[in-house]
Amino acid sequence: MSEGYKELKKKLLTAKKNGYDRISDADRAAMEDYCAGYIDFLNRCKTERLCAAEAVRMAEEHGYRPYVSGKHGNPGDKFYVCNRGKAVMLVHVGKRPLSDGIQLAAAHIDSPRLDLKPTPLYEESELAFFKTHYYGGIRKYQWVTIPLELRGVVALKDGTVLQVNIGAEPGDPKLVITDLLPHLGQEQGKKPLSTAIPAETLNLLVGSRPIGDEDDSGRVKLAVMQLLNEKYGITEDDFNSAELEAVPASPACEIGLDRSMIGSYGHDDRVCAYAVLKALLDLSETPEKTAVCMLADKEEIGSEGVTGMRSAAFDTLMEDLCATQHIAVRAWREKSFCLSADVTAAFDPDYSDVYDKRNAAYLNYGIGLCKYTGARGKSGASDADAETVAFMRRVFDEAGVVWQIAELGKVDAGGGGTVAAYMAQRNITTLDAGVPVLSMHAPFETVAKLDCYQMYKGALALYRAVFQ
Ligand code: MN
Ligand code: MN
Repeated sequence: MSEGYKELKKKLLTAKKNGYDRISDADRAAMEDYCAGYIDFLNRCKTERLCAAEAVRMAEEHGYRPYVSGKHGNPGDKFYVCNRGKAVMLVHVGKRPLSDGIQLAAAHIDSPRLDLKPTPLYEESELAFFKTHYYGGIRKYQWVTIPLELRGVVALKDGTVLQVNIGAEPGDPKLVITDLLPHLGQEQGKKPLSTAIPAETLNLLVGSRPIGDEDDSGRVKLAVMQLLNEKYGITEDDFNSAELEAVPASPACEIGLDRSMIGSYGHDDRVCAYAVLKALLDLSETPEKTAVCMLADKEEIGSEGVTGMRSAAFDTLMEDLCATQHIAVRAWREKSFCLSADVTAAFDPDYSDVYDKRNAAYLNYGIGLCKYTGARGKSGASDADAETVAFMRRVFDEAGVVWQIAELGKVDAGGGGTVAAYMAQRNITTLDAGVPVLSMHAPFETVAKLDCYQMYKGALALYRAVFQ
């Protein structure tokens, strides 16, 4: 009787299992290797431009070449397109024609941060500061009193583009945003978290030592400008055409006494970007369908802009490829499949009230598959159909990938979106899936190594799969 009950239960009910009870010893070893590579990637890629450059470098190392229109349409061809230094598309041409569709994985390489305003430098009370304008959804209180570095470019009128790096090299000074001391923070402490730190107080402290004579004014600001001029040859006007990003200076590291997790800035969405990139580069055989990896910019501000997923850059490349294979442009889309590889929220026991426990993603339970994202009544979601989810279940299960199905949080708690909607708009069947993250969008986010590696395995399975 009791045995019959157990069998029935095993047969009919879902048995959620921690990934550590499912993976092999070989998988564990491979996971550690993979995560060491990922930590290294994180430390070298703190901005979308650095990610794009690193992706190109890795692609070249794996035999990928810059795309030449009309030249690469044959099975086995590997090439990439770098869109304005900020987004990268990589293609491994498959055995079947493009009219059979492509297997696509799309992740984004931009992360929330503090950009410098176009006129950033000023002096107040004999201290010099940079004014910032935050990019993406940040909780402003998290960005004060942590060491920051400044990365990005200054583009000069003559076409020269200078790479700026202040704070990343050993021995470099860092920058910081100050906050009130608790002794004087009584009024501030009464304010809601969202208003306690106004955006206009997110000013980077960049200097305090004056030059010139005591009766001169703006001496600290001038001293900072002098240092920048010595290092980069720039003047104050040049900030007008600069993209400088203040990002957390702390390096990525292992987290936990058991070293089972990774803490870092920028897991959203470099944890998926690295996975889908590395999986494509590691694809040793010519895939059945053409495999494409998209590393997009601007996801954090709505996929806008010429390097975002709403840009025609991707369509242009695909149209060009179709022309090479003498295939109608409209034909490739509807038989294609896109895995929108973006992070999801991991269940946090300290804040359990914002999650639906039965539908949350858990650390170490593998890739979080999301049928839909969005907010409220699925607003802004692409809401994949049941057939699409069934396809992904089969592909992941056959490849031994550890995955879970999840929603972001409680229906009324909030919401979020990904590039999925923009892929679906293109008439490409699309499904969201990504690594669960603790403290998402914070300057220091946490993920589980197991989930990172499963994301890579999942991407590999996706490129090898045939949708339809
Ligand atoms: Mn994301
Ligand atoms: Mn995000």
